Amino acid sequence: MAQPRVVSIHYTLTNDQGEELDSSRVEGREPLSYLEGAQNIVVGLESALNEKVAGEAMKVSVAPAEAYGEKNDELVQPVPLSAFEGVESIEPGMQFQAETPNGPQVVRVIEVGDETVTIDANHPLAGETLHFDVEVVEVRDATDEEQEHGHAH
Ligand code: ZN
Repeated sequence: MAQPRVVSIHYTLTNDQGEELDSSRVEGREPLSYLEGAQNIVVGLESALNEKVAGEAMKVSVAPAEAYGEKNDELVQPVPLSAFEGVESIEPGMQFQAETPNGPQVVRVIEVGDETVTIDANHPLAGETLHFDVEVVEVRDATDEEQEHGHAH
């Protein structure tokens, strides 16, 4: 197997509607560095960047299956309002950390009723096709320590 690389990229992420969701190209932000093969970034973007070298730029569209998966309707469900005891006011869009059988998970409030709150435990980008405008800034071999840790330093 080839020596894993650490790749640094600048990227702008937009959705199908052309809305900017995230960007490394803002003041105070460094390029994003990831360790190849360590699932640091979505698989569809990583495979598009495979073997690319510093200075290369491209546009990549990544389908949900290669990004954050399809939306799972079963993860949208009502919970009793009493579960939010101690929260002063619950509004759609608020996010909470919830304990689930699969470990801690971020859930978003979708709707607030008189007795129930509808929450969505899908990843916020589930079901979205992601459009990356990406430029490779730097490529280098990963150190042994980075490979042990599974991320770039
Ligand atoms: Zn580390």
